[in-house]
Amino acid sequence: MDKLEQIKEHAKELNLNYLRINADKIVEEADLNDYSYQDILIKVLDSEIGLRDKKAQERRLKNAGFPVIKKIEDFDLDFQKSITKKQVNRLLEMEWIDRMYNLIFLGPPGVGKTHLSISLGYKAVEQGYKVSFVTMDNLMHVLKTQEISRKSKGKMNRILSSSLVIIDELGYLPITREEANLFFQLVSALHEQASIIITSNKGLEDWTELLGDPALTTAVLDRITYRCELFSMSGKSYRLEHRKSLF
Ligand code: ADP
Ligand code: MG
Repeated sequence: MDKLEQIKEHAKELNLNYLRINADKIVEEADLNDYSYQDILIKVLDSEIGLRDKKAQERRLKNAGFPVIKKIEDFDLDFQKSITKKQVNRLLEMEWIDRMYNLIFLGPPGVGKTHLSISLGYKAVEQGYKVSFVTMDNLMHVLKTQEISRKSKGKMNRILSSSLVIIDELGYLPITREEANLFFQLVSALHEQASIIITSNKGLEDWTELLGDPALTTAVLDRITYRCELFSMSGKSYRLEHRKSLF
């Protein structure tokens, strides 16, 4: 076996994928540029770390479960005045996740609640945080079936080990008493260990009716709003204003 083959074999054994794939190129480049031994080693190790980070990020993005990718750069702050550029920049620093602050985006359909949530989640993934996105409807299904469905159990484990959990569309579909209890238990579990983003078309004052029990609602709100930024988003629906027409 020649030396290059030997390098590739060892790299494979050690899971050094960058080196395994690029061994020839690295050696050639080093020869061509007269790299020092130290330069070569640094280059290989740097690239290996870079590749691992990239793979880990791709995995985190896939596991986050975003229904679509939305970018914060595409969010028009002139259209949605309820959140300022300064606030967005502050949120992009991600300090709120480190400090386990929650965000609540309230408002009618089309004002950008989901867009903002996903784009913040996307940036968090980019910066190395573990993020889970679920709709309230999907969350209820997962909570109710986690004992009997391996898929739900897996999703639940991911949610419970995330630094940021995005729960989209609270209030669009009615919730049973059992579901409200499960929701409370989840919020209790996440409280003190993760940040939560909740989007809802219902004001906080309507959550009691939604969750069906004043004591339970108080307990839920108590935990969520303890460290929390609330954005009441108003204005017109972006969808309606930018309605696409065929003719
Ligand atoms: P909501 O969740 O409040 O119902 P969405 O976030 O789903 O609203 O927004 C509806 C559509 O309009 C999405 O395609 C979203 O990307 C777009 N949108 C909403 N607000 C804005 C905005 N301020 N700038 C750019 N696109 C927006
Ligand atoms: Mg939405």
